[in-house]
Amino acid sequence: MNYNKKTVMDVDVAGKKVLLRCDFNVPMAKDGSGVITDDKRIRAALPTIEYLLGQGAAVIACSHMGKPVATFDSYVKKQTEKGKDPATITEEKWRKSLAELSLAPVAKRLSELLGREVIMAADVVGEDAKAKAAALQPGQVLLLENTRFEKGETKNDPKLAKAMADMAEVYVSDAFGAVHRAHASTAGVADYLPAVSGFLIQKELDFIGGALANPKRPLVAILGGSKVSSKIGVINNLLEIADTVIIGGGMAYTFSAAKGGKIGNSLFEADWQDYANEMVAKAAAKGVKLLLPVDTVCGDKFAPDAAVQTVEAGCIPDGWEGLDIGPKTVELYCAAVKDAGTVIWNGPMGVFEFAAFAKGTEAVAEALSKTDAITIIGGGDSAAAVQQLGYADKMTHISTGGGASLEFMEGKELPGVACLLDK
Ligand code: ADP
Ligand code: MG
Repeated sequence: MNYNKKTVMDVDVAGKKVLLRCDFNVPMAKDGSGVITDDKRIRAALPTIEYLLGQGAAVIACSHMGKPVATFDSYVKKQTEKGKDPATITEEKWRKSLAELSLAPVAKRLSELLGREVIMAADVVGEDAKAKAAALQPGQVLLLENTRFEKGETKNDPKLAKAMADMAEVYVSDAFGAVHRAHASTAGVADYLPAVSGFLIQKELDFIGGALANPKRPLVAILGGSKVSSKIGVINNLLEIADTVIIGGGMAYTFSAAKGGKIGNSLFEADWQDYANEMVAKAAAKGVKLLLPVDTVCGDKFAPDAAVQTVEAGCIPDGWEGLDIGPKTVELYCAAVKDAGTVIWNGPMGVFEFAAFAKGTEAVAEALSKTDAITIIGGGDSAAAVQQLGYADKMTHISTGGGASLEFMEGKELPGVACLLDK
């Protein structure tokens, strides 16, 4: 995939209407009160919005939020599948479920952050949105309703994409968290408008794309997290590119078991043992250094107050489970990071949510914070771990898209990026 895409800086937007796809899928209070509990994603969109307004554009922003059921028929079907009594499934309840996923609270917060009015449309491509878009002046911001209120959104319906495109003259995509989905508002619209990236996507392409396509070597990939099965694509792709691949987290135990090690009650995917062995063989054939844990911190249960002991890798006693990498492994992994040119990290080294098993993840985060290497963090939990441990501002780049960054590292084509104009 070509990561060299035109950005907002490469197009003239003065006096034009710009359809801007944002990721405003923010967490909301569970009580339906419309309170946004974390506005990080709205703040992240400000540089692109402010740039566009500064250039004299009129901004028509759009985003999805949550997973609304777009039609009453599908709502009835879904509720019935969930085992709900048909008599209690009403149109009123469906409408309420939609209202809770309205972007109106986002418009309010965005307006506060921008210090200017944000006009809210009552629909996505309906009469209200069309009228408000038509009347929009340079310097004004309109926010369309939740794109998933339209059933064509997730189906990438060309009719919906065209209707959205018809309101504007340029399309800017800045929703990195959604670029792995080929939806009408993330990819389809690009068939009808000149399409470029905003600053958020540009940064992701520069750093992750740069590290994959033309890394400063040696490139060290640190891969952890829970399961081998969710990381096969990432392991496989990074074995093609990296000089060193480091395995930690829960998936290390399937590698250990595949070699004949004793892993007790550790996380284990029997079906993936052959794959683990294949990856070891692939690394050897390619001359990639593959590092596996040499020791393990185990608990006698999966709990914060578990009894703890450290054992050699492959020697976990019955009744115990590996929940973190051990101190010798930490030393080995941190040494590998020290002289790296680039480090890509995806997946915690242990169950960092429990203090007793956070040391491995913390040590790796600290090592990354000290190296001169370009450091790139991908994956939702890895980003959370780095934030939680207080190292966020020491990293070169923390990806804003969980699923999207994983697919990026898997080397997959991202539809929301592929649709943008090449430089
Ligand atoms: P990411 O979201 O960064 O891609 P994953 O979702 O793959 O990461 O994995 C994160 C989860 O893996 C964390 O919740 C962590 O507790 C869990 N994990 C890490 N090591 C282990 C382990 N040894 N046993 C069980 N779970 C683990
Ligand atoms: Mg995760």
